[in-house]
Amino acid sequence: MAANPFDLSGKVAFITGGNGGLGLGMGIGLAEAGASIVVASRDEAKTRNAVAQIEATGASAIGVSCDVVDAGSIASAVAQAVEAFGGIDILINNSGTSFRAQPEDIPEDEWDRVIDTNLKGPFLVSKAVYPEIKNRGGGKIINIGSMMSIFASEYASPYASSKGGIVQFTKACAIAWAKDNINVNSILPGWIHTDMTGAFLKMYPEREALIADRTPLARWGQPHELAGTAVFLCSAASDFVTGASIAVDGGYSIK
Ligand code: NDP
Repeated sequence: MAANPFDLSGKVAFITGGNGGLGLGMGIGLAEAGASIVVASRDEAKTRNAVAQIEATGASAIGVSCDVVDAGSIASAVAQAVEAFGGIDILINNSGTSFRAQPEDIPEDEWDRVIDTNLKGPFLVSKAVYPEIKNRGGGKIINIGSMMSIFASEYASPYASSKGGIVQFTKACAIAWAKDNINVNSILPGWIHTDMTGAFLKMYPEREALIADRTPLARWGQPHELAGTAVFLCSAASDFVTGASIAVDGGYSIK
């Protein structure tokens, strides 16, 4: 183990949806721990801005265009990452989306879009990145779940189904790839202020205070607050942790 078990110097991290919100918060945290970052997202302007923020830490970063529901786009993004940095050691499957309505009001194409982005996407990206991490002699994968991996809600049936699936997908990959020295874990974020939850609060403004009241730490989280757990799960400090789902939620899930 390295002298500092949290040191990520020399490691390359591929982060889907790394151009904002929680993905960028984790990208900056990993960069500060020494990693080079590949921001893999669709929105080019957001991606350029995110790369600049990561480079401001002194780390190397590139942006690659990646749609996680398109295997061809993923293959091209992975190839660009390997060409730029020589390989990949860390994958964070962070991209996500939602559609909020009662089950009876959800159009079939919206159901498919949410499940494809949140569940099939991590499968397709993991499948494409796995050989690269294996080639490096092992590494780390983090899948981003949700409180909706544990609970459900009447307005979140496709989202909760996808995020529940992420926990099981994490366990399956952890078992499959243990032989390759690859640890696979999930982080289950609580309620954190980002574009996604901003859209939620526009629909249900009264829930901001209700959620804070229900949270033992009595507040919402900020995007950088996933970074510590992400650095731990991407570093040698977590070498005996695999298949786990770690809540970073101010205690929301214990109540
Ligand atoms: P944001 O809306 O800020 O980020 C979502 C990210 O997903 C964007 O970077 C977006 O990239 C990317 N994305 C969406 N669809 C695709 C796609 N098809 N291909 C590639 N990238 C895509 O929200 P958050 O930061 O809040 O969400 C990040 C993750 O955290 C999600 O998985 C979400 O479900 C999860 N989460 C968030 C919580 C919160 O409280 N904020 C709580 C629990 C879980 P682009 O802009 O390029 O489209």
